[in-house]
Amino acid sequence: MDHDDLREWSKRAADWAHDYHAHLRERPVRAPLEPGKIARQLPPVPPEAPEAMDQIFADFEEILPGITHWQHPRFFAYFPANASPASMLAEQLANAIAAQGMIWQTSPAATEVEQVMVDWLRQALGLTEGFTGTIHDSATTATLSAVLTMREAALNWHGLTNGLSGAPRLRLYASAQTHSSVDKAARIAGIGQENLVKIPTDSSLSMKPGALAGAIAADRAAGFLPIGVILCAGGTSVGAFDKIKDCVAVAKTADLTTHVDAAWAGSAMICPEFRGLWDGVEAADSIVFNPHKWLGAQFDCAVQFLRDPTPQVKTLGLRPSYLETAGKEEIVNFNEWTVPLGRRFRALKLWFTLRAYGLDGLRNRIRNHVNWANEACEAISKIPGISIITKPSLSLFTFACDTNARTEALLARINDDGRIYLTQTMHGGRYVIRMQVGQFDCTQEDVMLAPKVIAELMG
Ligand code: PLP
Repeated sequence: MDHDDLREWSKRAADWAHDYHAHLRERPVRAPLEPGKIARQLPPVPPEAPEAMDQIFADFEEILPGITHWQHPRFFAYFPANASPASMLAEQLANAIAAQGMIWQTSPAATEVEQVMVDWLRQALGLTEGFTGTIHDSATTATLSAVLTMREAALNWHGLTNGLSGAPRLRLYASAQTHSSVDKAARIAGIGQENLVKIPTDSSLSMKPGALAGAIAADRAAGFLPIGVILCAGGTSVGAFDKIKDCVAVAKTADLTTHVDAAWAGSAMICPEFRGLWDGVEAADSIVFNPHKWLGAQFDCAVQFLRDPTPQVKTLGLRPSYLETAGKEEIVNFNEWTVPLGRRFRALKLWFTLRAYGLDGLRNRIRNHVNWANEACEAISKIPGISIITKPSLSLFTFACDTNARTEALLARINDDGRIYLTQTMHGGRYVIRMQVGQFDCTQEDVMLAPKVIAELMG
């Protein structure tokens, strides 16, 4: 395969992609759950001789039954990892260039487009001017970066050089509604799961600011070292929002920094009417949201806004002589803001997406999704035997049958049926089904098919 072959095959791949997307509704959304089936189709050993691309492409089509179709307009599970056509095009171009933007000089355009895109998004989300930021692969990495920075700031950067042995017992605070990426960050940053203090929530599922203040004070009295607070703006389970303003105020009084996880719900803040949900966010030190979720910038693309990047760069940045750019002291090397050294040109898909749809086009989609989620919730609430467990938080709501076993059996029937795809969570000890509307190309008809399928399968 050379570049001439690539030209031909790229055209075929583009046609294939067009047909794939045009006929997605005819496919079951979720792949059948048959462990090992696809692996058994592949030869157990690698080829010694080159193989024909025709054959390779034909074999690619054979693994499609093992694909869950994330771009299917009736994907209502998790949160969709959206890929707008414009962002797919940008990814093709980024793939063709295949630049590795680890430092400014390895592609000045990659760094500079990233700086401008982060600022466009800051404005789009209504954040104040002081915020700058960077793009990570995932919200998990951004949260890990924030937690490592909290740890090092609390240890006066001794952890980086001396390690954690002999350090005081560190404590991190979040509610149980935050995503498991916070638990992961606490584990791998050397803080330990036991030292991630889960602060109780009130009836609206917000962390109780008073309980947060009490926990910090008690930990200090016990000789622990509090390092920071992670806040939830759109929990994955049922869409919980912490009262950001009150919780950040508590953290500030205690001299602790804050990181807000708005991975899926953050995109909704391009609509001014939803910004009340994260009121006070401009006082936070770090905020992450995933344009690869609701904004349609193809996976992977997680933007972290930072009030002041200095502590994070001090924590994650290293500049050995082989990564220096002589005579250019003022440039930004984004690898120093993030965990990996190597970086893909992720900002390109943001540039294409924001321009191809405009903020107004993106707002329309998000508003539609929120409205349709409410309509679907209303219709599902009327199905005999089903109760709504949590009302729509933006475009996420949950429902259940009278017992966990019945709910689980209903979910299995829904996903085996294949017309829609939903997933589960545990809420208040109850097994519930989540419905999250957010697929880039879904229509009202797609969303309203969900109550019909559920009613049919309940019958
Ligand atoms: N935080 C929240 C609220 C999420 O919903 C998710 C994923 O769905 C994550 C974090 C983790 O995101 P990522 O896959 O980008 O690490």
